[in-house]
Amino acid sequence: MNMATTTIQNTNLMVNVDDLNSIREAIPQHVTLVAVSKTKPVSDIQEAYDLGVRDFGENRVQELLQKVGELPNDIRWHAIGHLQTNKAKQVANLAHLIHAVDSPRLFDALSKHASKPLDVLLQLHIATETSKHGFSESELLQALDNGLLSNPSIRIRGLMGMATFTSDENQIAKEFRTLRRVFDSLQLGDDFDTVSMGMSGDWKIAIEEGSTLIRVGSAIFGSR
Ligand SMILES: *Cc1c(COP(=O)(O)O)cnc(C)c1O
Repeated sequence: MNMATTTIQNTNLMVNVDDLNSIREAIPQHVTLVAVSKTKPVSDIQEAYDLGVRDFGENRVQELLQKVGELPNDIRWHAIGHLQTNKAKQVANLAHLIHAVDSPRLFDALSKHASKPLDVLLQLHIATETSKHGFSESELLQALDNGLLSNPSIRIRGLMGMATFTSDENQIAKEFRTLRRVFDSLQLGDDFDTVSMGMSGDWKIAIEEGSTLIRVGSAIFGSR
């Protein structure tokens, strides 16, 4: 066994290749894997890119803008974090998918800056932590009923949610089930096809509960 080679590989690679590959092998074909690269340098992203990853998630606008400029232009960037209304303009035409539309105000701001139809997800608050963002189920239904989430320049592609940070898997499953139930209850057309739920610690549960897109950071890039 060539120890030298092994050592060199281990120190150079920042991506957990084995973990990345085992996630890719475990997820069904209808589930998209978004590699969450927030706080990680472009060299890490390039490494994952070279392994075939094309979907990356960022949660800060400044960081996203900077990385977009430095990396291949066939990357699909997912804006996954809470977005302030005054940042809508910068993100609007850059992101492949905006995951966290959590108010009619943000929806409006995005629609004003759309130069082509924008794909977005509506964030539903499913966790117990109040620090997490998103519409409650009733707020969401009311906003839809009142026509507050309707604009020709925005395509609502689905829902996004984050489960409570807990070791109680039953609770996590229950919260994801709520998100999937609300998704299934809404009839928003053929484009409405995405359920974004599941992170490093809970993506398996999320897929069992009907996720179609998982956002995985630390399991791929290491802890932040
Ligand atoms: C950071 C983040 C993730 C990824 O979290 P990990 O636990 O590192 O997988 C997923 N979704 C959102 C919205 C995030 O902010």
